[in-house]
Amino acid sequence: RGDLSSEKEKLIRDKLDEAISHGYEILKSSGNSTEAIIETIKILENSPLFNAGKGAVFTNNGTIEHDASIMNGENLNAGASTGTMHVKNPIDLAYSIMTKSSHVFLSGSGADDFAKSQNLEMIEQEYFYTDFRFNQLEKQKNSVSKFGTVGCVAIDINGNLAAGTSTGGMTNKKWGRIGDSPMIGAGNYANNKTCAVSCTGSGEFFIRAVVAYDVSCLMEHKNMSLKDASNEVIHNRILKIKGDGGLIAVDSKGNIAMPFNTEGMYRACKSSNGKEEISIYR
Ligand code: ASP
Repeated sequence: RGDLSSEKEKLIRDKLDEAISHGYEILKSSGNSTEAIIETIKILENSPLFNAGKGAVFTNNGTIEHDASIMNGENLNAGASTGTMHVKNPIDLAYSIMTKSSHVFLSGSGADDFAKSQNLEMIEQEYFYTDFRFNQLEKQKNSVSKFGTVGCVAIDINGNLAAGTSTGGMTNKKWGRIGDSPMIGAGNYANNKTCAVSCTGSGEFFIRAVVAYDVSCLMEHKNMSLKDASNEVIHNRILKIKGDGGLIAVDSKGNIAMPFNTEGMYRACKSSNGKEEISIYR
């Protein structure tokens, strides 16, 4: 709370509104959930306000390295990239890896090369430099912190689920560090049988707790509701190993859950049953 001015809070809420409304319109006009999450995430990646794409955080050696992933709950297809430095919209790259390569996960310059071969927009590192993130790095030289990964989950008119996540990772992370966001099952997961999940938080803990897949497993094997499964993971399992963060999730019936164990989490949702929310704090 103390770090966020009311002006900036308004900018963030307005951008969340723009993103969720755009995604919702795609679903309303019979677009599929994969398309909706990509277009929603791109609005957030193109904004300097969030830790992804344009606003991504710096590594400890002053570079910017993006992680992203996407999963389609209908066929369990997935694509992910880590450590890219030049593709403008990492979520587009994750989608291309899912649909145009025979692989699931590409890294570093190989991933950037593949993006180029798919004619995705490539950009110099300078594009990603913002004073706000640079000052964060200067202030946090002795610690590693997280903030503002973007993600989106959706269910479409055919009952298909999709999840996508995109991030610069954590301020002052070691270059080469891989977080949970691009790891299928840790920071991102979708399965039509259960739910679609996208996570934010201290990635190391989310990897160890395999958070996104754990929510799905609790639903599939223990018959838990989306709400109970995601609360169990965020408020019990991840806390036990001292992990902080949260997730957004939607299940195959359209139920929504957005639990977090931190002071706040930027979040928004919109549903054809009239549910609509844009919030930051508890
Ligand atoms: N989970 C991300 C990571 O560890 C950071 C974040 O959510 O802000 O890379």
